Amino acid sequence: MSLIEIKKPPVDQVHVSYKFHTTITVLRLDKIHPVISGNKWFKLRLYLEEATRMNKKILGTFGGAYSNHLLATAAAADLMGWKSIGIIRGERPRQLSDTLADAQLYGMQLEFVTRENYKNKKTTSSLHPDHPDDIYWIPEGGYGTLGAGGAGEILSQADGGAYDVIIAAVGTGTMIAGLTKASLPHQQIIGIPVLKNESLLTDIQQLLPDTDHQRVSLVSDYYFGGYAKKTKQLISFMNDWYQQTGIPSDFVYTGKLFYAVNDLLHKDFFSQARQILVVHSGGLQGNRSLPKGTLIF
Ligand SMILES: *Cc1c(COP(=O)(O)O)cnc(C)c1O
Repeated sequence: MSLIEIKKPPVDQVHVSYKFHTTITVLRLDKIHPVISGNKWFKLRLYLEEATRMNKKILGTFGGAYSNHLLATAAAADLMGWKSIGIIRGERPRQLSDTLADAQLYGMQLEFVTRENYKNKKTTSSLHPDHPDDIYWIPEGGYGTLGAGGAGEILSQADGGAYDVIIAAVGTGTMIAGLTKASLPHQQIIGIPVLKNESLLTDIQQLLPDTDHQRVSLVSDYYFGGYAKKTKQLISFMNDWYQQTGIPSDFVYTGKLFYAVNDLLHKDFFSQARQILVVHSGGLQGNRSLPKGTLIF
């Protein structure tokens, strides 16, 4: 795996002063690699190792037009000297999103499928009809035990054991499951879902042993209308947060995460003495889909 060099992520101390003074620590996974940023690198790791063991040299995966996972998979395949296939939900647009255009630059072959066909993800790609077995399929969003196992390594990047509370954004739930599995019994793991999905907690628990089920909880008040939806309030918070802390966020995941953390601190959700680690899971490339000037960073 030495082909892909990642930097040890820095941690930022952020001082938030309300009723009492609180310091939160932000683990900056957005800084580890220019493309395979954030949690996607960790979630891909064990899939790449398995593909290597199985001697497969084509990665296949699934995503929408702005998927961080799709782009990270394309970049990882390129770095490994492999090929990649992306199955994209919906019709081919007249102009590719920046994310898809970049994935293509990393050599990913894009196959657009109807929403109906997308749902049956087991379908094989028509791109390699002669050698379908050469493709190593990674589940959408990296969801699965291997994805969670890789995400668990995130905590060893910080002094993970020093915190009482660990908070992160939740999409498929793979990362939060991995963080829970890798955490210590005294730690409380809190996920902030960025979409409305009633079965999310079950999806997370499915990746965990029974004994860990109680240690993870979700605070589901901060999804801002749904996946990749945003409000003026969210955008202006992201700008304010950047001004106050120097930390950029993305509008799909980490903007909602920091909004939630800030709001929960205001509401005294955490008791005073607690050491809080917030995982900045990256995703900044997705901001390119916003009109220029929306964000100040
Ligand atoms: C994919 C992603 C997440 C969500 O991770 P899951 O494991 O799917 O819950 C969070 N933040 C960012 C920036 C992401 O790209």
